[in-house]
Amino acid sequence: MKLLLVEDEEKMARLLQRGLTEAGHQVDVCQRGEDALEQALQIPYDAVLLDWNLPDLDGLAVLRRWRERGLRTAVLMLTARGTVGEKVLGLRAGADDYLVKPFAFEELLARLEALHRRGDAQGSAQAVGPLVLDTRRRVLRLAEREQPLTRREFALFAELAGHVGEVLPRSTLLSHVWGDGFDGPPNIVDVYVGYLRSKLKKLEAEAVSIQSVRGVGFRLVVEGNG
Ligand code: CA
Repeated sequence: MKLLLVEDEEKMARLLQRGLTEAGHQVDVCQRGEDALEQALQIPYDAVLLDWNLPDLDGLAVLRRWRERGLRTAVLMLTARGTVGEKVLGLRAGADDYLVKPFAFEELLARLEALHRRGDAQGSAQAVGPLVLDTRRRVLRLAEREQPLTRREFALFAELAGHVGEVLPRSTLLSHVWGDGFDGPPNIVDVYVGYLRSKLKKLEAEAVSIQSVRGVGFRLVVEGNG
C-alpha cells in the first residue's frame, strides 16, 4: 500500500515508517497538518495514518477538510485520546478507524490491512452526477468510458466536485490545488479548467459542466442538482 503518515513526533514517525516499510508498504511522512492537507489531495494514497495532535492544524480539522473536498481515502486516526466522546467525534468527522496510543504495531498493521480490504470491496469512488471519480486510480468514468486525470486535474476536479453548484473563486482554487506557495500565473486555473472541460467532452458527460463566472471563478454544475 502507498501510505501517508501524518505525525509530528519525529521518533514515533521514524519508528512507524520503518515498521511499515519493512512490512512492504511505501510510506510518505508529513509532520504538519497543513502539508498533509495538500499532499493527500494531490497524491493518490491507499490509506492515511493521521495523528490527532498536530502543532498547526489538528488531525480532526485536517480530516474534516479532506472530506469536505471529496477525498475518500481511508483514514486511520492515531491518538492519545481514548474517551468514547472523542472516538465518536473522530468517526463522525470521517475517520474509517481509530487507534489509541500506545498501540501494538501488529494491531496497526492488522487494522490497515482490514481498511484496505474494505476499500477494495467498496472501491474508492465518488459519484458526481452520472460521473464516477475514482480516487484511487485517479480517473473520471462515465459508463464504459474513462479519462485519466493528472494530479492537478484530479485535485482541481475534486475541489470543484466537493462544492457542486457553488462558485469557487480563482484564489481559493489556486491556494487549495496549487498551494499558497505557488507563484506562477493565476490563469493556470483557467488552463486546467480547459483541460478538464476537454476530458468531460471526451466522456460525453453532458450533464456535468464547469461554468466560468466572470470576474469571480468557476463552479461545477450537475444537471438536476443545481
Ligand atoms: Ca502528535
